[in-house]
Amino acid sequence: MRCPYCKEDKDKVIDSRSSEGGRIIRRRRHCLACDRRFTTYEKIGENVKLNVIKKDGVRVPYDRAKVVGGLQKACYKRAVSAEKIQEIADRIEEDIFKQFDKEVSSQFIGHSAMRYLKSVDKVAYIRFASVYREFTDAGDLIDEVRKAILEPDDPELPDLFSKPLDNNQ
Ligand SMILES: [Zn+2]
Repeated sequence: MRCPYCKEDKDKVIDSRSSEGGRIIRRRRHCLACDRRFTTYEKIGENVKLNVIKKDGVRVPYDRAKVVGGLQKACYKRAVSAEKIQEIADRIEEDIFKQFDKEVSSQFIGHSAMRYLKSVDKVAYIRFASVYREFTDAGDLIDEVRKAILEPDDPELPDLFSKPLDNNQ
């Protein structure tokens, strides 16, 4: 990204956040040429062309609707509100844009989704994991279920997910 002060194109991303349901990415940048800082706002699909690398190596444009669709399937008939699903999608996008600029593996997205689902709803987590990880036998699945039940929640997760789910219909 071209620096607004010195016009050089040498910068390092310091921080990324998504807003407006993940449509806008705000990036704090540090110009390595003049040492000043500036902020850019990028819209997915416009300036931001993010590709997802699938397991077979095929690259497809990132599509938030697919992420939300996967979460909805996992949360079907569970006490997880539509709003909460959007929040999880926001968090996943924040994880993505913190680390990746142009390409992200579908595996990374899957891991991020599992991490959040685990703290929100264990059943949804297991459902998602069973599709995503393609357990080869029942033993693997049982191991995962046991782990999900016994493991303490991830202490590093943001407060958002430790709040009670009281906003459900
Ligand atoms: Zn500069």
